[in-house]
Amino acid sequence: MKVATPVSFLLLVLLFASGCHTVPQTGRSALHLVSSDRLAAMASAQFGELKQNTPISRDPKYTSMVNRVGERIAYVAAPDMPNAQWEFVVFDDDDQINAFAMPGGKVAVYTGIFKIAKTDDELAVVIGHEVAHVAAGHGNERVSQQLLAAGGALAVGLGTRDLDSSERQLIMAAYGAGATLGVMLPYSRYHESEADEIGLIYAAQAGYDPRAAIAFWKRMEAEKSGAPPEFLSTHPSGSTRIRKLNELMPKAVAIYENR
Ligand SMILES: [Zn+2]
Repeated sequence: MKVATPVSFLLLVLLFASGCHTVPQTGRSALHLVSSDRLAAMASAQFGELKQNTPISRDPKYTSMVNRVGERIAYVAAPDMPNAQWEFVVFDDDDQINAFAMPGGKVAVYTGIFKIAKTDDELAVVIGHEVAHVAAGHGNERVSQQLLAAGGALAVGLGTRDLDSSERQLIMAAYGAGATLGVMLPYSRYHESEADEIGLIYAAQAGYDPRAAIAFWKRMEAEKSGAPPEFLSTHPSGSTRIRKLNELMPKAVAIYENR
């Protein structure tokens, strides 16, 4: 049945629709078309696979540091994300100066990050940023944008000609984006800035000196070579990032000193 395909697509979107989501701390409205529970379950499964295929560090110096900082950041983020299932893992790869987060609360840090993050305050910059991506629902927003883009293209196609296999491929691509790539989609530049902002607040609330972020990002910039880490890939430049952080700093320092 030719007409059945877009109808079922729309039904599916409506079925998943949880509508508008308010980003904690910034108050921005974001469109979430996929259920967060569903996305978290997919991410959790994917994270489980990653853990099986990636060497995990057992170095207590790193694991205890990440768990200690992770626990404190997750604690202050809890009101923004009460259903999170936080898990913090250190992957053993000194060449990767990187970290990432997945919907639902899975956070991974590579051992390479410890070349830059020397103290708990500095690691809190990393963990705060990653926890912020999760709490802000950036993964859901990315998947929703992919679904909308596919749906929009589908609507254009419908107006011009009968459905054919290309429309079906489009629908499959949208499903694919949600089912696999979705949970690991790169974040947009805007999401990176927002994660910086929320992460800085979380770090300060958790008792980490937010001023450590400036030194951290300066060192991160100096290290920028080879494959760009998640942190740097979508950002305009280190100087813009540092300028924005400096603008936010008085508020963050006030939180840190008055908590
Ligand atoms: Zn990020």
